[in-house]
Amino acid sequence: MSTNHEISTLLRSHGLRLTPQRLAVAGLVLPRHTHVTARSVYQQLKNEHPALSMNTVYLTLGQLESCNLLNRFEINGNAVFDSNTLPHDHACCSKCGTIIDLPGAQPELPLLPTALKEWQIYGEQRIWIGLCPACIGTDG
Ligand SMILES: [Zn+2]
Ligand SMILES: [Zn+2]
Repeated sequence: MSTNHEISTLLRSHGLRLTPQRLAVAGLVLPRHTHVTARSVYQQLKNEHPALSMNTVYLTLGQLESCNLLNRFEINGNAVFDSNTLPHDHACCSKCGTIIDLPGAQPELPLLPTALKEWQIYGEQRIWIGLCPACIGTDG
């Protein structure tokens, strides 16, 4: 899935109307495995699409999530959208914010915490927090 035509077909097949903004957001995040926030998408697109607003980016990412084209999780209170929709864990560098995928890192589900006994749990994702190799040993 990489051409504009494929993106258009995909959006249409999910009942999403094709707008230039929607195509720009989808074209940026869907073709590759990436982790984005609404802000990072906005900053990458705002020069090319002056009519684009943060709100539109956020709504569009939410629509793509509703269509199961993106996964969403939270790190430090920020919504992160993930184009890898297979279940996987993450590691996040607390210094530079790099997020990496840990595919197949769920050998077994942990025991359900007692507080979740009444919940209907669909899955579980871990986020490992630490310093990435590039940040170890750097100042600040
Ligand atoms: Zn780092
Ligand atoms: Zn991921």
